[in-house]
Amino acid sequence: MRIDHVEIHEADIFEVLLDSFPDMIHSVDDDGNIIYTNKTAEALLGYTCEELLKINIRQLYADSVLKDVDTGFSSLKKDGGWSGESLLKAKDGTIIPVEIRSFSIYDDDGNFVRTFTILRDIRQLKKLQEELVHSGRLAAIGELASGVAHDINNPLTVIVLSNEIVLRELERMKVPDCKELQHVKLQSANVQKASKSIEKLASHLRNFSRGMVESRETVDLACTIEDALFLTNSKIQKNGVEVVCNIEKGKYFVECSPNQIEQVFVNMASNASDAMAGLPERKLKVSVSTDKLEYLDCWRCDFTDTGSGISPEIIEDIFQSFFTTKEKGKGTGLGLSISRGIVSEHKGEIKVTSEMGKGTTFSIYLPCAVNQSE
Ligand code: ADP
Repeated sequence: MRIDHVEIHEADIFEVLLDSFPDMIHSVDDDGNIIYTNKTAEALLGYTCEELLKINIRQLYADSVLKDVDTGFSSLKKDGGWSGESLLKAKDGTIIPVEIRSFSIYDDDGNFVRTFTILRDIRQLKKLQEELVHSGRLAAIGELASGVAHDINNPLTVIVLSNEIVLRELERMKVPDCKELQHVKLQSANVQKASKSIEKLASHLRNFSRGMVESRETVDLACTIEDALFLTNSKIQKNGVEVVCNIEKGKYFVECSPNQIEQVFVNMASNASDAMAGLPERKLKVSVSTDKLEYLDCWRCDFTDTGSGISPEIIEDIFQSFFTTKEKGKGTGLGLSISRGIVSEHKGEIKVTSEMGKGTTFSIYLPCAVNQSE
């Protein structure tokens, strides 16, 4: 190939180079008016080059950083250079975190002429950093939980033994059977059942933090739901929630890690109870029916409450770790994200439907145990 006559201007080469640079580049005058910008800036900020060349640099920054922009610009002109992080505002309002390297150009007499600035979009980097912090927090919570689970054993043993001693003393005293004695025996049975649940939870937490996989067994969902409602009973009672749950035993079996699935149901009942606190109608209906996930036969466990409902703006976010609308100290924002993890490990799914002011239904799909689908 023969090139006859090609005149190459240095300025054109620079223009092409700067336009194909992956970072935004711009230059502003003494007053902060943009006098040069590259194509990457157009693409990222949503303005055309012509539009950018008519605006002041302050317009490109988020309102929250404008004060820093002014001080940064003054020191840049004085000191000759500035680097750091800031927040840009695109034409559609999107806030873009950027890493900035800026330097000043002076004339022969040392007077400031213009800046030259390279801005790198660091949204991806920020996201990665957030994820790292996130996993760090999860790891810290895991460690804390395993410590608590370990320390709980001693006081729990005292509770169990003391309860047994009370029962034995009653036998020894040969108290005649009466209403009061029956009441004491009932309360003692409650203490025993609750202690067993704490023991189970503690062992589940220890296994979880050690990364142990709980063995799978065939479990009757009616029993697991009953245990979960027992565990949340005090909250349910406190909030004055009426529970309707008529699930027949011996019908709905799944292959699962029972403590984990129980944990999911506990989260559902506990959240429903929170969502109904203080409302005039407080009803939680729990039911099991058959359904399919793709072609997989499943049991669908519905937890339907008459609570506040979930607004469409946040319904996509509720399964994110640490997402909570509850006040500090009441919510961790981990219940649903852990529940979703557990259910998907069991090849199931959690679906949610909700109407503001009417209530919410969480449906937990779990594959039927082999030969157990109806
Ligand atoms: P936490 O309960 O600690 O806030 P979760 O992950 O269990 O964390 O729940 C996240 C959020 O989902 C809650 O803060 C609440 O806003 C919403 N939510 C969950 N269940 C319900 C429900 N039954 N009714 C209304 N909102 C709910």
